[in-house]
Amino acid sequence: MKITFWGAAKQVTGSMHLLTLDNGYKILIDCGMNYEQKKELNETAFDFPFNPGDIDLVVLTHAHIDHSGNIPTIVNRGYKGQIICTEPTLELSKHLLFDSANIQMNEFKYLYNRAPKHRKKQVPRPIYLEREVAVAMDKVVTLPFNKKFKVADNISIELIEAGHLLGAASVVVEYEFEQRTTRIGFSGDLGRDHAELIRTPQPMKDLDYLICETTYGGRKHTSSELAEVEMMKYIEQTITKIGGRLVIPAFSVGRTQSIVHVLCRLAKKGLLPPVKVFVDSPLAIKSTHVYTKHPELLNSQATQFLNQHGDLFDFEGLKWIDNLDRHDQLLQYTDSCIIISAAGMVEGGRIQEHVKNNIQNPFSTILIAGFCAEGTLGHKLLSGQKHINIKGKEFTIYSTISRTDVFSSHPDKDEIFNYINACKTKKLKKIFLVHGDEPNLVAMQDTLVKAGIQGVEVPNMGEEFNLV
Ligand SMILES: [Zn+2]
Repeated sequence: MKITFWGAAKQVTGSMHLLTLDNGYKILIDCGMNYEQKKELNETAFDFPFNPGDIDLVVLTHAHIDHSGNIPTIVNRGYKGQIICTEPTLELSKHLLFDSANIQMNEFKYLYNRAPKHRKKQVPRPIYLEREVAVAMDKVVTLPFNKKFKVADNISIELIEAGHLLGAASVVVEYEFEQRTTRIGFSGDLGRDHAELIRTPQPMKDLDYLICETTYGGRKHTSSELAEVEMMKYIEQTITKIGGRLVIPAFSVGRTQSIVHVLCRLAKKGLLPPVKVFVDSPLAIKSTHVYTKHPELLNSQATQFLNQHGDLFDFEGLKWIDNLDRHDQLLQYTDSCIIISAAGMVEGGRIQEHVKNNIQNPFSTILIAGFCAEGTLGHKLLSGQKHINIKGKEFTIYSTISRTDVFSSHPDKDEIFNYINACKTKKLKKIFLVHGDEPNLVAMQDTLVKAGIQGVEVPNMGEEFNLV
């Protein structure tokens, strides 16, 4: 039996782990888009490091594109089997993948139309089209949490609640061979304790091997219990005191729902000043409907709130902006307000317009509420530079740029350590740390070794390990 790390090894994106069992059965856990190589991704350059037709089963932990983004590609390249995930993951993946296909097509058209005639052929084509997303989504079989599902003789899959995002799962593969049972657990992306809407990750039991995410293996976050206090701080500074504008770049799926729910809590307590709150993202609107459809997956605090108020995301002054006309109208709106829009790293989408509109306003605050990869506009804003180039135009920054980690959807170093400890039993032989950059991976490896936990590996991209 062996495992090969084909993605998210010593980096955060592109999750793709291949498990080959002794009888040759091949299970691929996640098939994500690798952003750290995005510029090389085009139809000719992108290829799988294995034959997609040889894979027997694909399991998807959750909907985020760095885990799901190449599902249409693998189907397109010859994968014939089923794709297993939870129902909310299927629903959110559909929205995200159709959106991704759409963005790729728009990028292609933009570049194609601007390329000189002799270079048009070199413009990278979309990796997949909308119709290919539809074909891939037809292969999905959904499973509930905590139910063992037999996928072949002596092989079963169980999905365990991972927090992080609605429907996000950890995956336990159980394999019986020569009267021995081996259990391999993939954490997928984990959530935090006391998250705004969803439950705390559930540890996996009786594992022989654990593959664990380590996005923030070396960092301590502000406790998520303080989300309301933290949000109020920025509202008071920007809205109440100076009548300014609070602009929050946020991922449409997961982050936006957390922020809107916290604002809803503040509104119901009568703490929100009487300004309009705009959520300018069609994808966020669709994803919020999926959250509303699955009250059974909410944590007790959110369930209580829902029972009391009848809605998690609705309060006076909240405006969801769907079509472009209303987005254009919002760009003309000059009053004090809160604007939440995507993309979270400010690398595209409608938020760029709002940042452009507010960057020279000393009464505006741009509050970065999530991870911003190096090279992204969000990262540049946080670097403290005085000028910034947005869509080819230079701006002097007069607005306040702030950052909060209170809405992080990944556990911090203490939460990861506690999770690993909760999964750890005497039979656990090895822990593989993935989905983190090297400093975070090494920090967690050190923490575990210092705590006397043996067999902690930090795999390289493409590295293969025998599981005996
Ligand atoms: Zn994720």
